Amino acid sequence: MRQVRIAGYRQAELETVPMPSLRDGWALVKILAAPLCAEYKLFRSGRPFHYIGHEAAGVVVERAAGASVDVGDRVVVMPQYPCGRCRHCTRGEFIYCKDNLDLDAGALAEYIAKPSWLLAPIPDDVTIDVGALACCGLGPSFGAEERAGVDGSTTLLVTGLGPVGLGAVVNGVHRGARVFGVDQNPFRAQLARDLGAAEVLDPRNDDVLQQVRAACGGDGPDVGVDCSGVPTAHRLLIDAVRSRGVVVLVGETMDPTPIRASPDMIRKGMTIMGSWHYALPDFPQVMDVLRTFAGVERLITHRFPLDQIQTAFEVSEEQRCGKVVLHPFEEAPQ
Ligand SMILES: [Zn+2]
Ligand SMILES: [Zn+2]
Repeated sequence: MRQVRIAGYRQAELETVPMPSLRDGWALVKILAAPLCAEYKLFRSGRPFHYIGHEAAGVVVERAAGASVDVGDRVVVMPQYPCGRCRHCTRGEFIYCKDNLDLDAGALAEYIAKPSWLLAPIPDDVTIDVGALACCGLGPSFGAEERAGVDGSTTLLVTGLGPVGLGAVVNGVHRGARVFGVDQNPFRAQLARDLGAAEVLDPRNDDVLQQVRAACGGDGPDVGVDCSGVPTAHRLLIDAVRSRGVVVLVGETMDPTPIRASPDMIRKGMTIMGSWHYALPDFPQVMDVLRTFAGVERLITHRFPLDQIQTAFEVSEEQRCGKVVLHPFEEAPQ
């Protein structure tokens, strides 16, 4: 089968590798939609990478003995190869599994093999492209907003309006929250407004904190979700969110982040937490967002066949885009 590899600095191409093999309880998925996530960072790292990507949706084409899916099922492919037995896996919080198998398997490919319990069924009235948004399109922010208790009484501030942050806008609007965003990218700011954000502010403004407070009113937003992974955005959220509010960090960074125990957490009584993906039992609720949110497909701004991977990465890296989705096969995914 064909899959994507990073060949060097800003060079992506296809390579041919053996078909993945199945184990008991596993199934083989023909990938019809593979959204790009942060792989553009590998693209510009200059190092070669094989077996990349972790988001996919498609159709089951083969099942091993004991698999819980059937050939022909339309499914979302959940990330990683968790053990299926530990306390995290049995609660559907498999993303935190410590016994994750490190396999040669990537989603930017024609096929992927998975334990069948990680293949979640796409309802008939949701297309495979839109279903694929149940990976990192809507997933991380769904988990974050669920844990923060975002509802119709919430004023929500989202920092970073890349594909994950745009998903946070969708989830917030779906829950009835008043949603505000912070991002300097005009394309993404406009897309956030189109998806229902009340206002998007530019973090380059010196008085952005005052602007956030003026826009959100009251003592500041109730909940902040960071999807940027930028420490200055963490600082802005922690300063902006009201006392007794909640800040959830979703965007990843390896840089130190400026959280102060006394002024930020103790004296504001604030909850600051991290969240990664969502619990598998919540999958039907994520599908409900995708099924009922009018125009949710606007999150997908670009679609490319697999052999245009170089262009797809260039678009993803340039960031004048929402979600970029690869179609490994010519047939239009339904
Ligand atoms: Zn586990
Ligand atoms: Zn992702």
